[in-house]
Amino acid sequence: MSAITGSTHQRRVLLLGGTAEARALAALLADQPAIAVVSSLAGRVVDPRLPVGEVRIGGFGGAAGLTRWLSEHHIDAVVDATHPYAARMRAAAVEAATTAGVAHLRLERPGWTAQQGDRWHRVPDVDSAVRMLPALGRRVLLTTGRQSLAAFLPLSGLWILARVVDAPAEPVPAHVQLLRSRGPYNVAGELELMRSHRIDVLVTKDSGGPLTEAKLAAARYLGLPVLMIDRPAPLASSMMVTTVEEAMRWLSGLPAQPG
Ligand code: NAP
Repeated sequence: MSAITGSTHQRRVLLLGGTAEARALAALLADQPAIAVVSSLAGRVVDPRLPVGEVRIGGFGGAAGLTRWLSEHHIDAVVDATHPYAARMRAAAVEAATTAGVAHLRLERPGWTAQQGDRWHRVPDVDSAVRMLPALGRRVLLTTGRQSLAAFLPLSGLWILARVVDAPAEPVPAHVQLLRSRGPYNVAGELELMRSHRIDVLVTKDSGGPLTEAKLAAARYLGLPVLMIDRPAPLASSMMVTTVEEAMRWLSGLPAQPG
């Protein structure tokens, strides 16, 4: 198990990561001597982009395991900068921070906004997307990630190009082609991908941010429908900011630890 190194005067922060925002925040905090930070990754991706500074990898064992971890490592604050769709980690972070009496902040980038010419169909979850998809197209670019891929596999009447960072453990059926790749993407590349595979519908989460938004511009340009899976509902109890700068301001307002 990793331990945060640092003096007793420092505030100790657990930064739940796996996003560009978490890496940006870790890089800024590396220059802050008053704050000792350890970044945490789930360990899903074989070759993750690592943040600057100390990193631990792997689950905590639910809210109870995280509560123990926070107290064993004398953590003063949890910044949850996991992906907008990492709903289990998000809930566990709130529960553990509350139980352990530790300050908690959610850093979550805003979702995307539809523009003129967009043909978005918003659905609340993956199951709704699976039900609606056959009515929207026949040749699908599926960009919702490896974890939701299994739900789309029974749609054998469609041809699916599934873009994933790592391949799933099980082989996929013949009507599904895997494309292993990791962003960022640009509009020219996304147009070429959609045209060369004669894609007629795009499926995406509302991840937000610039790294993967080029697919939306390409779909708009080609006039394609987009099946947009909404984010899980926000947690009422969570203090939330949307930018790394706001997270830095919140951290600078934490009470200093007695020496
Ligand atoms: P999730 O369903 O909310 O989390 C499942 C379990 O994975 C959690 O209960 C926790 O295990 C562990 N976990 C998740 N994030 C962790 C972290 N940062 N550090 C340590 N353990 C973590 O989350 P997910 O959708 O699988 O996402 C996993 C990671 O991938 C997150 O860090 C997220 O930021 C990143 N990511 C997710 C997506 C997406 O679309 N979901 C996209 C890009 C990046 P325990 O219960 O054992 O603690």
